[in-house]
Amino acid sequence: MTRLEATDVLAGKPSSFDVSRVRLDFPALSQIVNGSPVAYLDNAASTQKPTSVIETVTAAYTFNYSNVHRGVHTLSQRATEAYEGARETARQFLGAPLVEEIVFVRGTTEGINLVAQSYLRPRLEPGDEVLISGLEHHSNIVPWQMVCQQTGANLRVVPINAKGEIDLDAYKDALSRRTRLVAMSHISNALGTVNPVQMIVELAQQRGIPTLIDGAQAAPHLALDVATLGCDFYTVSGHKVFGPTGIGVLYGRLDRLNEMEPYQGGGEMIRSVTFESTEYASPPHKFEAGTPHIAGAIGLGAAMDYLTELGIDTIGAYETDLLRYATQCLGRLPEVRLIGTADDKAAVISFLLEDIHAHDVGTILDQEGIAVRVGHHCAQPVMDYFQVSSTARASFAFYNTAQEVDRLVGGIKNVLEVFGR
Ligand code: PLP
Repeated sequence: MTRLEATDVLAGKPSSFDVSRVRLDFPALSQIVNGSPVAYLDNAASTQKPTSVIETVTAAYTFNYSNVHRGVHTLSQRATEAYEGARETARQFLGAPLVEEIVFVRGTTEGINLVAQSYLRPRLEPGDEVLISGLEHHSNIVPWQMVCQQTGANLRVVPINAKGEIDLDAYKDALSRRTRLVAMSHISNALGTVNPVQMIVELAQQRGIPTLIDGAQAAPHLALDVATLGCDFYTVSGHKVFGPTGIGVLYGRLDRLNEMEPYQGGGEMIRSVTFESTEYASPPHKFEAGTPHIAGAIGLGAAMDYLTELGIDTIGAYETDLLRYATQCLGRLPEVRLIGTADDKAAVISFLLEDIHAHDVGTILDQEGIAVRVGHHCAQPVMDYFQVSSTARASFAFYNTAQEVDRLVGGIKNVLEVFGR
């Protein structure tokens, strides 16, 4: 079945999105893996890169490379221009009002750790609370646990329901005079649940509580607008938005960034240094100690430009059709147990095949060139909630097709056959 046929059936409308053309932008997708064309369904872990990103990074190293900010010579100026240009691109991509609010970090994990140590740690007292949900990636658990241990504060967890949705009543009840920060994901990597972040932020704001939204999984699928969302912090990873690894963005509202002390010192983040004291640079540079990932930031800018050009809403609509199709196809197999059935979901299907170990599922699918992730997905508390140790997870990007969903279904049938089911 072609992609158009699939969506015609499902959505009753043809799409103007030309997935065959878009796939040509991604050299990795035309590979043969284990004798079959690769079906890359592991996008929640990391995404493939379009030629425009690869060429931009290559050009950054080939023609425009030097260290940034301090050079008077031409190559340094070119590198600085491209690096700071990428910051402006990221500002637009996130819908941030000010370019000073865009801090380049290694990724979502580093962004969250930065907020935990620079913003929260000096403000936490014994008995204070940090509020997260039962749906979080380890990156949005462990940094808060660490800062709680360092200060005597408590980590409080809002429970989820059997569909894998945050219990909003419990959330409202959990917001208290001791809550110093709410930190929640926009989209769950393990289940694909899209959380009602606007409501989560508003409820916290009504009580004067700052919010951090982990946008690692949202950025590749949804148009972002942090100004409208009104959160204090928002984090994104470059490698999940078709950009390089080792680079990401922390958006922080300027008044928050201004009141934060840096947690790493070094070059690039200072205005003046003596042996007695140091005057820090203004945000965002205050939080970017050391030589940054220059080519990574420039490549991230190219990736964001690429997504903007495709149109995030266009790809989001396509992915919604694809997810619906995949959910229907897998739902027809009685041996498949879907883990995570939220009303609002994006791009992820976590599943189990009866009692067959997820690692066996992933290994057999790989023999047909179908790449899915198996394991706990860095979300062990989510696995604990569903009383499973791992799942197989197919996660989609806009370059995936209905044919690849059909291959996944065929692969699952093969797994069942191998295990005599
Ligand atoms: N948060 C979520 C929801 C994620 O899915 C991930 C990565 O899978 C992270 C945080 C951590 O991102 P990174 O490893 O890029 O820092």
